[in-house]
Amino acid sequence: MSDSLLEVRGLKVGFTLREGKVQAVDGITFQIPRGRVLGLVGESGCGKTVASKSLMRIEHPAVIEAGEILFHRTPSETVTVQQLDPTGQEVRALRWNEIAMIFQEPMTSFGPMHTIGSQIEEALMLHQDVSRKVATEKAIEALISVGMPRPAIVMKQYPHQLSGGMRQRAMIAMALCCHPSLLIADEPTTALDVTTEAQILELLKERQQALGMSILYITHNLAVIAQIADEIIVMYLGRIVEHSDVETLFLTPKHPYTRALLGSIPRVDQDPEGRLVAIEGTVPDPYTRPSGCPFHPRCPDCMPGLCDVKEPPNISLADGTTVNCFLYSEAELVTR
Ligand code: SF4
Repeated sequence: MSDSLLEVRGLKVGFTLREGKVQAVDGITFQIPRGRVLGLVGESGCGKTVASKSLMRIEHPAVIEAGEILFHRTPSETVTVQQLDPTGQEVRALRWNEIAMIFQEPMTSFGPMHTIGSQIEEALMLHQDVSRKVATEKAIEALISVGMPRPAIVMKQYPHQLSGGMRQRAMIAMALCCHPSLLIADEPTTALDVTTEAQILELLKERQQALGMSILYITHNLAVIAQIADEIIVMYLGRIVEHSDVETLFLTPKHPYTRALLGSIPRVDQDPEGRLVAIEGTVPDPYTRPSGCPFHPRCPDCMPGLCDVKEPPNISLADGTTVNCFLYSEAELVTR
């Protein structure tokens, strides 16, 4: 029996390109509990989108090289996702019905040649095997559930006729129309202004609680994740460097990378003349990963001879945080 909806164990996903091998996801392990929101944070290129696409088997052209993805359909029925044929019936039944995804820019997710209504109806007819008439009724219900104004008119409109915020509402309606138990939201508010972003976050929170679903919320923005997540994992160069509940992470960040990310967010109580902390250096070339700890070339706490030689272990601390860094030991919670 498990109260996790999804478990990922030691997942490795890579690309083999002409220029060389890219290890986009390098042995990550995490769980998403039922009815909870897990935030996945990291800079562009850290592997968060590739990891999340693997959960639905849409990782191509990347390849899952190792690890397990276990989707617990019920506490006693588990689907071993990494073993499914990415083009087979079983994974198609899983997608949308049980795991759905919304993307950063709905303009590129909706087909430009079809109306919003026909695209939601198509998803319903394909995944729920209902008639066109029932699909139309359910599509209108789905648009109403996300607070879409004039849903009957929106059904007949094309994506380019809607504002960014309305398009994202329509995308959420389509993702939730089959009542999935897991929603993967990949930077769903990045392309929106802050007012619309706040409305979409509020909508996702309301839908998550009303439907009791779990959300994997992916973003590069820690300020956004604070508003919606219960737990947070921080990724750097394909690895999870810190995993904690949201309050612990914001109050006592442990990994130097997490501390640097938090230090780079503007705060209302900081000196208006002061400078924001920048993370030294840039993300390394993916074809030449640093030896030892992948963060060592940018880390202010790097211990030469150790961090640049050995890979740090995952340490479980007394406050529930797991951190991948030599600064900590299992025996005690080190506060910096
Ligand atoms: Fe920095 Fe060393 Fe910790 Fe890596 S292991 S984050 S280099 S202190």
